[in-house]
Amino acid sequence: MQYNWSRYLRLIFTGLAGATLVGWFFGHPLYGLLTGLVMYLWWTLVQAHRLYQWLAHPSASDEPPQSVGLWGDIFDSLHKLHRDHLLTQDRLRARINRVQESTNAMRDGVIMTDTRGAMEWWNGSAEYLLGFKPDKDRGQYIHNLIRTPAFKAYFDARDYREPLEINSPAKPHIHLQIQISLFGDDDRLIVAKDVTRLFQLEQMRRDFVGNVSHEMRTPLTVISGYLETLVDHSDELPAKWRRAIKTMAAQSSRMESLITDLILLSKIETGEHTLDDALTDVEALVGQICHDARALSGEKNHRISVQITDRRLLKGDESQLRSAFSNLIFNAVKYTPANGNIVVSWSTNRHGAHLSVKDSGIGIDPVHIPRLTERFYRADPSRHKDTGGTGLGLAIVKHVLINHDGNLEIKSRMGEGSEFICHFPRERLVERVPETTGD
Ligand code: ADP
Repeated sequence: MQYNWSRYLRLIFTGLAGATLVGWFFGHPLYGLLTGLVMYLWWTLVQAHRLYQWLAHPSASDEPPQSVGLWGDIFDSLHKLHRDHLLTQDRLRARINRVQESTNAMRDGVIMTDTRGAMEWWNGSAEYLLGFKPDKDRGQYIHNLIRTPAFKAYFDARDYREPLEINSPAKPHIHLQIQISLFGDDDRLIVAKDVTRLFQLEQMRRDFVGNVSHEMRTPLTVISGYLETLVDHSDELPAKWRRAIKTMAAQSSRMESLITDLILLSKIETGEHTLDDALTDVEALVGQICHDARALSGEKNHRISVQITDRRLLKGDESQLRSAFSNLIFNAVKYTPANGNIVVSWSTNRHGAHLSVKDSGIGIDPVHIPRLTERFYRADPSRHKDTGGTGLGLAIVKHVLINHDGNLEIKSRMGEGSEFICHFPRERLVERVPETTGD
């Protein structure tokens, strides 16, 4: 019914006029008006009470109380509002059910947590992959259920550009890739993907390369040994064989370095080198490598200088760090023309510790920089024969840094030189224990 204010007023006035008329008929028009007003007030109170009862227990009866006039229209409007609200609620519930059904059908585990990591909702795959219990774990902190330290560090770091890989806490044979997204009021949506097959394939590839390299090492050592003996006695050989034997010896020694680097890379990748809590004296290590680099430079007579501004030790595996730093420093020697400058510096700031190797060499075209740490990637393939490199040096550097929670930064300009910087987190710096003199 249409809301009609003047009609309501008309109705009330007609009622009150009627009551006054009846009062007048009995000689008391004022009493008649008063009685009319009291009756109207009473009726209004009864309607308000019925409305309250209906609002307080809406589910008891879906139908609103019946009335006339203004109250009738108020009941009808409220009933319409209530119906619309129920409809919207049903529609929303159906939509939520559908979203839940579809996420339940997903093979990936999906978990929603609040800002502190309390679990609010998860799908069936999360129960299977991570072993969550439907009722027991609601509201639990996710760190208490996924206890891997790497996961806690990843969750708290709030830097979710790269995914994290961990083994499932409930089923250790399942390898998971975890990706977190922030949404709403700093809440988190966590997606756990089963990447076991990919992980196994990657593992097989690494094992294959490692095993093949190992198997090839022994025969190659024998061949190289004989070739070196032949080179030593090349005067006794017919002239036409001398050049061939020398080339064969050079190539077999190149293959030996390649195999040594492949074995090293596969060990670093598979984590065969345990990192323990070993400490490395970077100052001493850099000193030794630069000493070897001067020998490598030889007649090219590079000026190699070392700058150490922090004498603290670095938590990490010395042999891995030696491989990484020597690859960078020897590269600087290889790719810098005679009499060039090479500066090796070890410094720290509030972001962490940094080992920089800067040269005034040939430089690298910026297009190559993003791919330099790939295996066998070379900025200038025509040059690698002169430098005798294996193409694995920077891949080794990258993996050593990954093992030490660090990363490699490369800055370079063609013809002006390059700078390779190894960044390590601050937490890896350890104070030196003062040496005791023993008296
Ligand atoms: P390689 O054994 O060929 O030196 P690396 O993995 O050590 O292999 O380096 C990959 C490529 O990066 C090199 O082939 C070279 O083109 C480039 N490179 C590395 N270091 C330097 C440097 N200091 N100056 C110029 N180019 C460099």
